[in-house]
Amino acid sequence: MQTKKKEKKTKFEEICCRKNSQLLMALLLPVVIIGGYFCPRLGFIVVGLITIFMILASKRGRFYCGWLCPMGSFHERFLSKVSFNKPILPVFKSSWFRWLLFTLMMSLMVFRLYMTWGDPEAVAGVFRMMWILSMSIAIGLGFYFKPRIWCTVCPMGSFQGVSSIGVYMLTVEDTCVQCKKCQKVCPISTYPGGYRQDEGPGYVPSIECLRCSNCVINCPKKALHF
Ligand code: SF4
Ligand code: SF4
Repeated sequence: MQTKKKEKKTKFEEICCRKNSQLLMALLLPVVIIGGYFCPRLGFIVVGLITIFMILASKRGRFYCGWLCPMGSFHERFLSKVSFNKPILPVFKSSWFRWLLFTLMMSLMVFRLYMTWGDPEAVAGVFRMMWILSMSIAIGLGFYFKPRIWCTVCPMGSFQGVSSIGVYMLTVEDTCVQCKKCQKVCPISTYPGGYRQDEGPGYVPSIECLRCSNCVINCPKKALHF
């Protein structure tokens, strides 16, 4: 009885903690996008965030995506209220699409950075511009499909995914009964049950998991762990 109570408390604490951190981080969007119009150097906040996720990726995989990313937070906490929530199209789960987008976005960023000739305000402006571009695409997609659809192909998320292979992985035990509840609660529709040891590697590929814990908390068989 007491173990159940303790489990419920931990569940509650984890949900609240992630929600609060996301609400706080989402505030950075207007700071950079609107504030950056008046003070261009606010674009350097994005550089700070890139540094944070690169450090975190080596210890916790895509934890930044699941708990701290201002864009992901906005989509999950606000865009979700108005989204049609349609299923994510298979193309968004394909490698070729992910890496094509990665190449295009990174090429654009490098080209724009090169064109700044090292002017600090212009450099900060490039990072702000990348956020505006990503947000515009992400909101357009997330309004019709699942609100966090962008996170399935986000270049920064993909980078974290490949740089954290084997780090803080979501493992799937054989006790999984493939009820698919995990997929229903996953913000990017990943299906951990499909990676069950007897059918797959026994863990979810790093790039496919935001380490948000939604599935771990909701799995009725307690088959998922980090
Ligand atoms: S919710 Fe748990 S039992 Fe159900 S498919 Fe997912 S991992 Fe398996
Ligand atoms: S697989 Fe689980 S931990 Fe990973 S993103 Fe989906 S719900 Fe979150």
